[in-house]
Amino acid sequence: MDLIAKRVNGTEDVTPADSYKWQLVERICTETAEAYGFKQVRIPTFENTELFVRSVGDTTDVVQKEMFTVMGRESRFTLRPEGTAGTIRCMLENGMLNEALPQKVYYILSCFRHEKPQAGRLWEFHQFGVEMAGSKSPSADAEVICLAKNLIDRFGLNNVSLNINSIGCPKCREEYYKALRAYLEPHKSELCETCQSRFEKNPMRILDCKSEICSEIAKGAPLVLDYLCDDCRTHFEKLKALLDSMDIKYTVNPKIVRGLDYYTKTVFEFIAGEGKQKGTICGGGRYDGMIEQMGGKPTPALGFAMGLERILLNMEAQGCDFGEKSRCDIYILPMGEAAEMKAALLAESLRKEGFKAETDLMGRSFGKQMKYANTINARYVLVLGDNELESGRAKLKNMDTGKEEDIALDDKFTETFSTHLMAGIFENTLNG
Ligand code: ATP
Ligand code: MG
Repeated sequence: MDLIAKRVNGTEDVTPADSYKWQLVERICTETAEAYGFKQVRIPTFENTELFVRSVGDTTDVVQKEMFTVMGRESRFTLRPEGTAGTIRCMLENGMLNEALPQKVYYILSCFRHEKPQAGRLWEFHQFGVEMAGSKSPSADAEVICLAKNLIDRFGLNNVSLNINSIGCPKCREEYYKALRAYLEPHKSELCETCQSRFEKNPMRILDCKSEICSEIAKGAPLVLDYLCDDCRTHFEKLKALLDSMDIKYTVNPKIVRGLDYYTKTVFEFIAGEGKQKGTICGGGRYDGMIEQMGGKPTPALGFAMGLERILLNMEAQGCDFGEKSRCDIYILPMGEAAEMKAALLAESLRKEGFKAETDLMGRSFGKQMKYANTINARYVLVLGDNELESGRAKLKNMDTGKEEDIALDDKFTETFSTHLMAGIFENTLNG
């Protein structure tokens, strides 16, 4: 087959064969976030490029290499590479930070990053994320981490580890940057071009560089954890105590600095899988300076984002349970024109009562319709022919047991069907 156009590299389709898995994951995300009091926000797919340059940071890979920027008539826009910047902009622009604090929001959205496409690394991917603004307490950090952990458990993922670190505040970083620059100075000429330009402005970014030479050099670098001010140190100690009390296992990994500039104090990552399959499924942390930097009142904030493609890949790899694909409750099988009309009416009245009902739209024979009813995994089939229309009674066949029952096609039909359906589902659960 010659198709006019093909899917763009780095993008993916989700067909009905898999969409129910996405629905499950999204439902778990939504329900869990709501249990912690987070409410949904919906933000635009693109923003002014400046927003990302200023909040994500102009020394980051995301801004320097990965953004999809498009030209409007007069200005440049960027397809969001992450959800935090747009969400905070939305909070500020809608006066949400003048309401009761903390503000807690979540989102499920697509993100765009121009990276080398591979499994779990796409040009368009999806994130579930939460952002909380207004609390500087370590208990907010603990709550957010707890929410992420709770999600991972509800997905059924094991083999996931939590790494935490503190990268301090601008105050601790002054001293730290001095030490870091002093360490990096002799290696300056060996660093990749991008990192050479990061040396003055943001040397910590060099520690997150994926190039081989830079990561080799980064291995011996001084650790920001050793340079924390009293406030940041106490914050980190309290967070660890809270995680301990909630029995959330973690490793302090002084090497994680995270790829975006806006983080302060706590940063964390959930890493799934082993060996080559190993990858970050969730990353987050505090960004206490961002809201002020964006023109708002100084307001501490924090959050995380999960890569949903990577969550699904790991769930598949670990054989997690995605539940059943939703089943058609009843297929109404008409024989002849008069029956077709009645079938359409019956199906519609069933749908209005919340049942999943289908009928023939293809003019198929009895046998072919039965086959189709099997394909869509219908729980029941109701056969309607001239005889049934005349007598006002028809056979309702339970497709799981093969049992047939006589049912009246009167105005109590949906009610009667409902009773049969419940009994059938109950029996099915008992048997299997
Ligand atoms: P990585 O180090 O793998 O590039 P990152 O630090 O750039 O990740 P974040 O900016 O923290 O990632 O984004 C949060 C999550 O979004 C990641 O943990 C990952 O699960 C997912 N993610 C990031 N980039 C991609 C991508 N290009 N394709 C698919 N998922 C992604
Ligand atoms: Mg990345």
